[in-house]
Amino acid sequence: HVYLDNAATTPMHPDVVAAMTEQMNADFGNASSTHYFGRQAHAALDHARQTLATALHTTTDNIVFTGGATESNNTAIIRTAYARREQGMHIITSAIEHLSVLNPLRRLEQEGFRVTYLPVDANGEISMSDFDAALDDETTLVTLMWGNNEVGSRMPIDKVGARLRSHQAWFHVDATQAFGLADINPQALGINMLSASAHKLNGPKGVGVLYRDDTVHFTPFLLGGEQETKRRAGTENVPGIVGFGAAVARLDNAAKAALTTRYEGFTKQITTALTDEDVEFHVNGNLTHDRLPHVLNLWFPGVSTYALQTNLDLAGFAVSGGSACTAGSLEPSHVLTAMFGADSPRIAESIRISFGTVTTSEDIAAFSAALIKAVNRLRARAATK
Ligand code: PMP
Repeated sequence: HVYLDNAATTPMHPDVVAAMTEQMNADFGNASSTHYFGRQAHAALDHARQTLATALHTTTDNIVFTGGATESNNTAIIRTAYARREQGMHIITSAIEHLSVLNPLRRLEQEGFRVTYLPVDANGEISMSDFDAALDDETTLVTLMWGNNEVGSRMPIDKVGARLRSHQAWFHVDATQAFGLADINPQALGINMLSASAHKLNGPKGVGVLYRDDTVHFTPFLLGGEQETKRRAGTENVPGIVGFGAAVARLDNAAKAALTTRYEGFTKQITTALTDEDVEFHVNGNLTHDRLPHVLNLWFPGVSTYALQTNLDLAGFAVSGGSACTAGSLEPSHVLTAMFGADSPRIAESIRISFGTVTTSEDIAAFSAALIKAVNRLRARAATK
């Protein structure tokens, strides 16, 4: 089986497994304990924190480990909204954020906060004029994703960050899909808070980070002990955090750039194969300018997502019909809906292919052949019905 659903999650790298195994076996102590075992665990935490700080061009005091990007997003959004209630009750986001951003915002709306959901165009991109029109004196938070997990489109993070330098609103960025591929410098971009998750970059599940700079002050979500310098209570998930550190340490900027080039090549390989065989398809999103290179979302008119995904699965290729978080439900993708309207056939006739560090050009060649065969077969069947 070939795994092409790396936007959902990624396999752990053997180095990560080794680092975690070592941690669990030898250094199992509670990082808050003052004896030898505790100190060993604490040293491992410090080391991972330094790795994360270096990757984000910042200092360790801005790094808070969490139980994943969902927790990071919930914390950044809900705690900021409450902490800054006196300054205003307006939040700006986009219509295509991850549900771990949209659902906290819906909750806040029920509590009386005002939320602007910026619309996106057919590329999955917002416009700065919409952003400027939305920003007002009551805006206390802007939360946008670095890049979209379903179609790979980018948000204008640098432009928004620049606008907010002279505005009271804090800027939160969900960089979950980008952290393993882009060199991210929150401070240089005017980002005050940033979320990422280990399992999207060959690390373990259930561990993430919330970067927050020193303008950000709110009370923690989880109350209890004084872990994470009183910003996130609960005994630290030391093996998970060590795994996160090991995963991040593997990806220096040269490695990230090399992966980007490889994934661009895979995209070209698939689209060229489809074109060469005269298979009609359309890209959901753009392939021409700044995007997340590992996500490719394709529409095959007349071919149902479910049938195509199932056919490919039987042929040994795992792709997604949308994001994994919504795939279990029969809800149509809110991302494709925002891009093309609720009536668009694309919503029920698209698949997401996402590449990872272990994806090879041979995988992609075999996948392209299987894809062409499956699409042609399903179209022929539809024609004879
Ligand atoms: N944000 C984005 C953009 C994501 O793709 C995901 C994972 N699907 C999350 C947040 C949630 O991350 P986690 O699984 O670590 O909670």
